[in-house]
Amino acid sequence: MTAEIICVGTEILLGNIVNTNAAYLSERLASLGISVFFETTVGDNEERLEDVIRQGLERSDILILSGGLGPTKDDLTKEVATKACGQKLVEDEEALRRLKEYFASSHRSMTENNLKQALIPEDCDVLYNENGTAPGMIIHAKGDKKVVLLPGPPSELIPMFHDQVEPILKELSSEVLYSDVVKIDCMGESKVAEEIEDLIEKQTNPTASPRILTADWTLYFTKFLIAIFRQCFIIVESISYHSFLITSAGLIRAILRIRNNTVRAVINVIPMKIPAQYMIPSLKNTIYAFFHICMTI
Ligand code: ATP
Ligand code: MG
Repeated sequence: MTAEIICVGTEILLGNIVNTNAAYLSERLASLGISVFFETTVGDNEERLEDVIRQGLERSDILILSGGLGPTKDDLTKEVATKACGQKLVEDEEALRRLKEYFASSHRSMTENNLKQALIPEDCDVLYNENGTAPGMIIHAKGDKKVVLLPGPPSELIPMFHDQVEPILKELSSEVLYSDVVKIDCMGESKVAEEIEDLIEKQTNPTASPRILTADWTLYFTKFLIAIFRQCFIIVESISYHSFLITSAGLIRAILRIRNNTVRAVINVIPMKIPAQYMIPSLKNTIYAFFHICMTI
């Protein structure tokens, strides 16, 4: 399943605000096993936004839009997305009730333009906003595509995505992506690469692709990344040439210590889950053992 992120707002293009929503959404979608192939920022311009949505509908299963759901004239995401999906806007009673309640409880008067926030596309699920006035929506577009509209303020977008969108995406996605960090002592990145060469080159599922992230000027710090898509996503960070001798048990301990910090529940399970055949003093096998652990949790 593929998704693309579309952030709407001229202020992002002008550099007035940092696009933290895109980073958040990318990270969450990756962890849900949903591939993000495109990420676009477009200004508050009807024509260009419509172009971007139409293009997205042709090449991705899910479009996730952030911003432009507010009450003012420059907030046009919902109107444009509805049009691009070939639908009409209709009034949602529940959204209207919530809107009135929100203004009554915050002792503010509701203006005419707020009413447009109670309009929704005809075929959609409404995502009620517990932290603001603009509801989000999941529009059901042609060809089983989904167009998810989320409000721009991160304080509204994050809880809405986490609580209401993620559970739906989890159901739609058959893939799980696992991510963690493994630090390897006493071994330079070239040695690490050599040891796991076949893992990188021959495996298809999971597949591995190494990338050097940074190399410190002393050469004592190098980082090495192995991306294991589908079941696993592992970052092997190689901090080379110091401390203890490597044995499979030692390395496993180091790995477990890191896992300990991140996934507490696994601590007691791991020692019993490492099968005897993995207890060979080789980095490759240790990493295989780690994959095995990842896949069994
Ligand atoms: P509102 O009802 O507040 O107008 P909205 O859904 O219309 O919400 P925008 O008008 O696009 O959203 O943006 C409102 C505010 O949300 C921006 O001023 C900015 O502070 C924040 N925001 C918008 N988009 C992003 C983004 N991509 N990353 C981080 N913050 C954002
Ligand atoms: Mg706005």
